[in-house]
Amino acid sequence: MASIELRNLSHSYDVIMGKGEKASFSINNLNVRWEDGKAVALLGPSGCGKTTLLNAISGLLKPKAGQVMFNDRDVTMLSTKQRHIAQVFQFPVVYDSMDVFGNLAFPLLNDGFKKNDIRGRVEEVAEILELQDLLKVSAGRLTPADKQKVSLGRGIIRPDTAAVLLDEPLTVIDPKLQWTLRRKLKQVQRRFRITMVYVTHDQHEALTFADVVTVMSKDGKIAQTGTPEELHENPDTPFVGYFIGSPGMNILDCSLTAEGLDFDGFVIPVSDELRSRVSGPGDGLQLGIRPEFICSRLEPENGAVPFTALIIEDTGAYRVLTLTMHDIRIKTRISQAEQVSENDTVWVSFPERHVKIFRDGSRIY
Ligand code: ATP
Repeated sequence: MASIELRNLSHSYDVIMGKGEKASFSINNLNVRWEDGKAVALLGPSGCGKTTLLNAISGLLKPKAGQVMFNDRDVTMLSTKQRHIAQVFQFPVVYDSMDVFGNLAFPLLNDGFKKNDIRGRVEEVAEILELQDLLKVSAGRLTPADKQKVSLGRGIIRPDTAAVLLDEPLTVIDPKLQWTLRRKLKQVQRRFRITMVYVTHDQHEALTFADVVTVMSKDGKIAQTGTPEELHENPDTPFVGYFIGSPGMNILDCSLTAEGLDFDGFVIPVSDELRSRVSGPGDGLQLGIRPEFICSRLEPENGAVPFTALIIEDTGAYRVLTLTMHDIRIKTRISQAEQVSENDTVWVSFPERHVKIFRDGSRIY
């Protein structure tokens, strides 16, 4: 398996619009390194360029600029076959007329492996994917979930596969089976120490699957790469803070004055440490805080800000409160035990250890 690195990778499509004008979409100057044997998720909103990036890694697409490196070797101009990449798509790609054994054996037959070696390898892969009982079944008769397992099996069966790239592989799978199949993917990834890059727009899928998640923003840039915990605890940008988490991080415009952090005329006092780390002009800042870290009470409290309860959503385990004050809206989580009704005044404070400060789209505290 291989490490994958993108160096200043860019690509754009020129599209003819209604009146003949051109619009161009690009992935912009992407730089990232994913270590060998890691489970990587590439996460971002629809249309941000995830598939474009995946195709540049596999060699299906030649980027307009930059390099794709496998194990520090430049493979940008190599074909998919020369890169030894396996790809699993949204719709399973299997030979319907062949049985499962034939499908799994096919890549090895093409590479001239001996019959006995093929049987051993097919049985090993079938066992881990729990396909042993289906080896003689025609692939056309399988469920979509089993077909997707066969697709994955064909990808990992070659011993020289450099990486497996998966583009939203659970889309056509029955929701009840998605969890099982994702667990299986992770198990296979760990057992064979495969470098796997898993594309999804679903943060839950990304965070439960990956060791490392790369988040892309709508403008085709990499916003941040980190472990699920790093992305949750220390988002580099307001976008990552909001995109990760359910609900996402609250982001409030604010400024730092002599009294403290001021948003819309309300001031919360801050420590000397925060003040010393937020250097430069005091205005044009954004405060970020996750809903679960906001303290909310029905009684007034020193330093707390009065909001009005607008919406109360029950998720079963906890409730999500949407609170307003003037033009500001925030979300907070409360337990089932707390008695709150719509239009109640809720006193809110932001514990400083959970507060993030952003300037010009980047975290400075
Ligand atoms: P999704 O999650 O919806 O699949 P994505 O993040 O994978 O989206 P891409 O499929 O890479 O995004 O597409 C990024 C942008 O590039 C989109 O606006 C898409 O319409 C455009 N695009 C993709 N392929 C082409 C192409 N071959 N020609 C022109 N535009 C394209």
